[in-house]
Amino acid sequence: MLYSVLVDAYESLERTTKRLEMTDILVGLFRKVPTDLVDKVVYLTQGKLYPDFVGIELGMAEKLVMRSIAEAAGVQIKVVEDELKRMGDIGKAAENILSKPKAVSLLAFMGGEHKPEPLTVNKVYDTLERIARASGEGAQETKITLLSALLKDSTPREARYILRTVTGKLRLGIADMTILDALAISFCGGKEARPLIERAYNLSSDLGFVAKTAAMEGLEGIKKFKITVGKPIRPMLAERLPTPEEVLSKLGGKCIAEYKYDGERIQAHKQGDRVLLFSRRLENITHHYPDACELLRNYIKAEEVIVECECVAIDPDTGELRPFQELMHRRRKYGIEDAMKMFPVSLFMFDILYVDGIDLTLKPYPERREHLLKVVQEADRIRIAEFRLIESPEELEKFFEEAVADGCEGVVCKSLSPNSIYQAGARGWLWIKLKRSYQAKMRDTVDLVPIGAFYGRGKRAGTYGALLLAAYDPDTDTFKTVSKCGSGFSDEELARLPELLKPYIIPHQHPRVDSRAKPDVWFVPALVAEILGDEITLSPMATAAMGVVREGAGLSIRFPRFIRWRPDKGPEDATTVNELLEMYRSQLKKIEAEEQKP
Ligand code: AMP
Repeated sequence: MLYSVLVDAYESLERTTKRLEMTDILVGLFRKVPTDLVDKVVYLTQGKLYPDFVGIELGMAEKLVMRSIAEAAGVQIKVVEDELKRMGDIGKAAENILSKPKAVSLLAFMGGEHKPEPLTVNKVYDTLERIARASGEGAQETKITLLSALLKDSTPREARYILRTVTGKLRLGIADMTILDALAISFCGGKEARPLIERAYNLSSDLGFVAKTAAMEGLEGIKKFKITVGKPIRPMLAERLPTPEEVLSKLGGKCIAEYKYDGERIQAHKQGDRVLLFSRRLENITHHYPDACELLRNYIKAEEVIVECECVAIDPDTGELRPFQELMHRRRKYGIEDAMKMFPVSLFMFDILYVDGIDLTLKPYPERREHLLKVVQEADRIRIAEFRLIESPEELEKFFEEAVADGCEGVVCKSLSPNSIYQAGARGWLWIKLKRSYQAKMRDTVDLVPIGAFYGRGKRAGTYGALLLAAYDPDTDTFKTVSKCGSGFSDEELARLPELLKPYIIPHQHPRVDSRAKPDVWFVPALVAEILGDEITLSPMATAAMGVVREGAGLSIRFPRFIRWRPDKGPEDATTVNELLEMYRSQLKKIEAEEQKP
């Protein structure tokens, strides 16, 4: 098949942004492609040579590419540089340069000039592959020689697309789903076959492989499509709801809740002693975790298996879970080998998708769990994810608190219904996560001093509705307000408040207190309360660190809850304004880190 056929299709694709038109163009193309070439055509059309998980990437450096163009066109590199600056696109620049008639050489005059054969798809693909694979000493020269030879054989129009491909910039804007539509129409009798084709894609993450199966075996082949150990299955993702009540009602009143570990998700494929690890984004990350591979090799009792787990950093001294960012940081700082010895990872297994010839993805979760429990031999650093059968919102709330206290982000609640399949490649309601409102939620309590109170109403008439709490500022020796807090008190505690605080009541704001709020009652700073909140926020009413982070705002606490009194502490032992500021700053960093997390 000639490469120019592909180029015709690329040009048409570039002229439209409409998905249906793109599908039609692709169908026209696929119908012209010999069946054994379909996979290569699909990869090339995506600007790739292989599916992503293989990890062989195009992306030749611009400098080398410019030298190849100069060599192919017989011009100075400066000419290429100038043209690239003018056009802003290496493909167009090369096309323009190669369109200019060359000076007639003596060789041409004598009839001996190189007359290129028309370029085939195979020739382009093979050359690009050799370029991508060239490594080590002399690799740069090899790449330049290969590319310039290919350019000499290509028309200027072909050169445009070859150059965009080799630099990793062939951006035709075709979604995977459009390719799946086109495959269904071209090879499987119509768009109705799309769900089956999509499933094949979800089971293999390999569009070229799916395309070739469809082209060679038609719909029957797609129906029989099987999981291949070594090709990652597209991961199932969780939906999210804010409260235990909503989660349970969505899941029919019952679920298995599991700890949601803050680590890296891993899909592990094991075949005998060979282990491959894939990230959530389906990159091959086997070489990042030699220790995880070893654990899987030793403690997963099956010949051929695909399991999912969360890979977590553990503090070797205390056995506590550490945040994901810390694992990444350590591995960057010390290198994988050393970090692995100093800070080994632990694996928490949570699903199994395939075992010894059996595809489990369409089995309900309880059945998959039975297989998982059989296959995993638990040991120190490889465990089944902590779980509990949950039948009420109170149980779920309690388990959630335990998960958070143990250093997790929250819990993932999993449907137990007969249709609770593994929804490869989909975010659905069979898994629902319940997370803290922010990853950066306050892990530590703070100790604050009540400097005033508001009268209670309704059920709280006769006692206080909320206390006004302050942090200590040693620089000015004053107490600066943070938050009102009315939650977390038991009924007895609440009833006891007026009596407990009575000795400290004064008729006006205490001179060592800095407050914008005007409570009903003022106190002498004396007692200390331990408080836990959701996060540190900015508030115009808080005077703690007023104006430091933002003009007109101080540091406050969202959803503060009373934990207990701290009679062992005096008011000057309370959390200081600077400590709060530190907590706020590290919270910001955590949020940023969370946003960058894959
Ligand atoms: P999210 O990334 O917020 O959509 O949450 C889903 C992620 O939670 C998964 O991709 C896993 O990396 C992670 N996770 C941690 N523990 C579990 C678990 N027990 N079951 C499923 N996912 C888990």
